[in-house]
Amino acid sequence: MPHRVGLGFDAHAFEEGRRLVLGGVELPHARGLAGHSDADVLVHAIMDALLGACGERDIGFKFPDTDPTYQGISSLVLLEEVMGILAERGYRLVNTDCVIVAQEPRIAPHIPEMRTRLSPILRLTPDKIGIKATTTEGMGFTGRGEGIAAVAVVLLERGEP
Ligand code: MG
Repeated sequence: MPHRVGLGFDAHAFEEGRRLVLGGVELPHARGLAGHSDADVLVHAIMDALLGACGERDIGFKFPDTDPTYQGISSLVLLEEVMGILAERGYRLVNTDCVIVAQEPRIAPHIPEMRTRLSPILRLTPDKIGIKATTTEGMGFTGRGEGIAAVAVVLLERGEP
């Protein structure tokens, strides 16, 4: 089987006094996302997609929130680790495509920077890192501005990174 696909989903609640980090980029906003790490919901969804595609358990299993090592850690550090696991299993990433679901703030202006930031870590040119943003038109927990969710798919193929 030369190719594998993976799917990841994550959601975090807004919390006062936290930084808002998405795709490794800090967005100016009154509230950030609650979580044990920096709560980068986009990177978490990508990591779960990568782990799922190469037959590994999810990030909650790999990086338990009971482990003080991961307190406040940048999710990009965890993503580096996941990319290492991928290489060990003999896979490289072909492309990823993601959706951020948020009513606020406006995500679109920050997407180019997210793609640039993730590019060296994912070993992909920015054109192979799809990041899109949508609202849910006021419906559900994202629509009420309670938090942000993200979905990611990845395609892996056998071979060197
Ligand atoms: Mg998470």
